[in-house]
Amino acid sequence: TLSSYVTDNGKKNVVILGSGWGGISFLQHIDESKYNVTLISPRPHFLFTPLLPSTPVGTVDEKSIIEPVVNFAVKKTKGNVSYYEAQATKIDHKQNTVTIKSFSHVNHLGSSKGSESIKKNDSADIKYDYLISAVGAEPNTFGIPGVEEHGMFLKEIEHSPKIRKQFIENIEKANLLPKGDPERKRLLTIVVVGGGPTGVETAGELQDYVDQDLKKFLPSLAEEVQIHLIEAMPVILNMFESKLTSYAQKVLEQTSIKLHLKTAVSKVEEKHLIAKTKVSETETKEELIPFGTLIWATGNKPRAIVTDLIKDIPEQEGSRRGLLVDEHLKVKGLDNVYAIGDNAVAGLAPTAQVAHQEAEYLTKVFNKNQIGSAKPFKYLHYGALAYLGAEKAIANITYGKKQLYTGGGLITFYIWRCLYLSMIISWRSRFKVMSDWLKLAFFKRDFFKEL
Ligand code: FAD
Ligand code: NAD
Repeated sequence: TLSSYVTDNGKKNVVILGSGWGGISFLQHIDESKYNVTLISPRPHFLFTPLLPSTPVGTVDEKSIIEPVVNFAVKKTKGNVSYYEAQATKIDHKQNTVTIKSFSHVNHLGSSKGSESIKKNDSADIKYDYLISAVGAEPNTFGIPGVEEHGMFLKEIEHSPKIRKQFIENIEKANLLPKGDPERKRLLTIVVVGGGPTGVETAGELQDYVDQDLKKFLPSLAEEVQIHLIEAMPVILNMFESKLTSYAQKVLEQTSIKLHLKTAVSKVEEKHLIAKTKVSETETKEELIPFGTLIWATGNKPRAIVTDLIKDIPEQEGSRRGLLVDEHLKVKGLDNVYAIGDNAVAGLAPTAQVAHQEAEYLTKVFNKNQIGSAKPFKYLHYGALAYLGAEKAIANITYGKKQLYTGGGLITFYIWRCLYLSMIISWRSRFKVMSDWLKLAFFKRDFFKEL
């Protein structure tokens, strides 16, 4: 059944797609007394991605970094706010509707009065006056064979317990095999592909678990765990200056993570992968690396709903990374559709910082009724941070072009913790993360196979 929904009370309908950094920041800041606000997302929680690499090993608990969408929606009491736990499947920019497929029987939450509910698996068309697309992006495998089947991503919260489970099962199996058995070695090998911040932080956290916890109850086995980090470019973390990237490489190697630079993975099988290292301008060396756990962190690509819309708009022709937006974040070629965050191409990096600032800017424009007459969006860069493991982090803290702090080490690790706490967008979550860190000072990590 396809029904059409519209709230008709004289106010314009603003529809937001996505409950990530862009969508939730927009919801938090929009003045709901001026617009009917509808948020559509299949994911009923916001995810604080910067601490996601800390969850597979239990440094931080999964539930600490997610926050139900309804917790944000209930605070919007001055107007109509609805949340549909649903996936947007099509944007019809000629009819100004979004087709959604519902995931839940519970649809309108928050202070919604007028909107109707949709049953699970039903489809409906939601009418919009303004659409804010913030659907993010999805992991990119670059079509490399075997990645989807044998690798694991770390992009959403549900990926985290999967990684933990596989690693524990491998430890258990390896423990039954004699030392020196190649199968034992394979099971204890973790390969992380992608030397961007996701890959580096994940590798660092895994090594922390091995060195700080596993070593205490299975010391000889812990020594045999080998983490490989594979990066196609000559450096890891290329968004940092070279002084910091060399420091990061040194820390990783000291903690016994094996770094493979200028090395691209070209094929993945069930128990091993093929990696090609560039040894000179003309020569590459091929290596077979057996693994027990494979984490794939090579960046993201646009989602189908975005690529479908791009195909439908002549002004978007040839755009491969997402929706091209103008200086007001309006989707080029459309009058009333805006894109923020990772699904927008605005010449900025796909980061939480950017998505959050774009959402803040756009809500200001909407709240002040300056649509069409506002000043262009200006991004202010506050710098970058990355955790390396062994209580060391690197940071480059800026205010726009002004450098405020550059450093690496233990002090930077505490700066990293303080800044991440300040970035968390709810007090509940902040409290939980603080208590996870405090717990870690006295006890081991929670490393459960299943709950
Ligand atoms: P997302 O936050 O990914 O949200 C997209 C939302 O859209 C989700 O709720 C999703 O369920 C929903 N959605 C998907 N499809 C549909 C659909 N068809 N219909 C409706 N909704 C849909 N950035 C930093 O600045 N600092 C960091 O430290 C940092 N650390 C990171 C660590 C990890 C492990 C990862 C993966 C990313 C990290 N990032 C960091 C990047 C940052 O998370 C992203 O840039 C940011 O999430 C982008 O926000 P977004 O709203 O565009 O997308
Ligand atoms: P990324 O795109 O930053 O890095 C992916 C890396 O994988 C690249 O360095 C690329 O060269 C490499 N790669 C690609 N294909 C490969 C192959 N076949 N074999 C080997 N290596 C290959 O991805 P990410 O780390 O997931 O980050 C995504 C976005 O999120 C970025 O904008 C990043 O800044 C942001 N982020 C930020 C933080 C932080 O600030 N601490 C943490 C995580 C993510």
